[in-house]
Amino acid sequence: MTSTTDCIFCKIIRNEIPSTVVYEDDVVKAFLDISQATPGHTLVIPKQHVADIFEYDADLAAAVFSRIPKIAKAIKAIDPAIKGMNILNNNGEVAYQSVFHSHIHLIPRYSDTDDFKIHFGDHTDQYTPEKLTQIADQIKAQLKD
Ligand code: 5GP
Ligand code: ZN
Repeated sequence: MTSTTDCIFCKIIRNEIPSTVVYEDDVVKAFLDISQATPGHTLVIPKQHVADIFEYDADLAAAVFSRIPKIAKAIKAIDPAIKGMNILNNNGEVAYQSVFHSHIHLIPRYSDTDDFKIHFGDHTDQYTPEKLTQIADQIKAQLKD
């Protein structure tokens, strides 16, 4: 587990390492991702150190995610060539998370040939309605108070 002392994004919050900030308030900091998957690629991070989505409670999620639309709109407004945006939150190494301080990627999309790709496998033919119901029932059971 990363401590807040060692965490690279906590260091960015404390200005111990430089970042190109686009927005900051008491809840979040938003700064340009160093890799710039596409121009304007921004990370939004909670100021509270949480590793991933599984460490949020509803109040923190509401506070952090409430900031996303205005930052997304501001990014989109910088260039008429921005036609869309992927908003992405990776959780766990298997899901491509590499920094274990939760962050939300805002990746402006210019065209289907810009340098961002996402692949959803399509396994529709392997799932009967009964199988889908079985999976949904398992999740629903976990959501019961
Ligand atoms: P993940 O793979 O965890 O979803 O995304 C981590 C992101 O953090 C990567 O896109 C990477 O480029 C970015 N990143 C890693 N270190 C730094 C840094 O020191 N500064 C900035 N601005 N971005 C970083
Ligand atoms: Zn941190």
